[in-house]
Amino acid sequence: MRVINTKDLIPIVKDLVKKACTDLDENLMNALKQSMAIEESDLGREVLETLIENADLARKKQVACCQDTGIAVIYLDIGQEVSWDGPSLTDMINEGVRQGYREGYLRNSVVGDPIIRENTKDNTPAVIHTKIVEGSEVKITVLPKGAGSENMGRASVLKPADGVEGIINYVIETVENAGGKACPPLIVGVGLGGTMEKSTLLAKEALKRPIGDRSPTPHIAELEKELLTKINDLGIGPIGIGGSVTALDVHIETFPCHIASLPIAVNLQCHANRHASKTI
Ligand code: SF4
Repeated sequence: MRVINTKDLIPIVKDLVKKACTDLDENLMNALKQSMAIEESDLGREVLETLIENADLARKKQVACCQDTGIAVIYLDIGQEVSWDGPSLTDMINEGVRQGYREGYLRNSVVGDPIIRENTKDNTPAVIHTKIVEGSEVKITVLPKGAGSENMGRASVLKPADGVEGIINYVIETVENAGGKACPPLIVGVGLGGTMEKSTLLAKEALKRPIGDRSPTPHIAELEKELLTKINDLGIGPIGIGGSVTALDVHIETFPCHIASLPIAVNLQCHANRHASKTI
């Protein structure tokens, strides 16, 4: 077994939090630049140019690319040959989040109780997802999620008879309903199958896939392409001012499900598609 001290995660999470909020990755930057050639509206191209300029400035000056620095969603893919030493893993991750938001001058956007709504003042706790995988490594991914895009997501359980048409209608309705509120151009994450909670987890996981990567399952890849075309035909455009680039990509993750149900979830990601990973 490989033993890792949980305290080792503090500086890693801290750095990933700051990196995710200030350095939008090359994959997103390339997608935004490529979308300039597709966007038909002058105003839409102007908005895209401003988004690219904003991201460049954020990286150069090491400041947040958006004022909403999100709630920290953290994924840990833990190798089954890893054993942990030290204090609580959850506490150490939250300490990394605390230090990252403080050192990066990132806005504290978390309330401790969903009804009383007092700010926790350090952006903790993070939402932590763990997965046991093969091997002796640990992959840590930080995905800060802003409310503008998160608030416009939806989940439901369709009837199997609703089929592909029902899936398409559900995704399109979700994006149409979001309009400009989710800060397009979007990355649209879709979770299909499993159970109600599994599909919502899949929808968010879908946001981690690089823009331009298609599902390895041919009929799902076709559905991703069809949805992307239909979403861009809606004419919502960059930031909702009208145009031909409403989404940069659609990613669908699937899981087997019960014979009598078809769970579906849509998680929208805004143009501030923030995430950063490290494997130790
Ligand atoms: S939806 Fe995204 S870009 Fe819009 S305010 Fe929230 S974090 Fe910022």
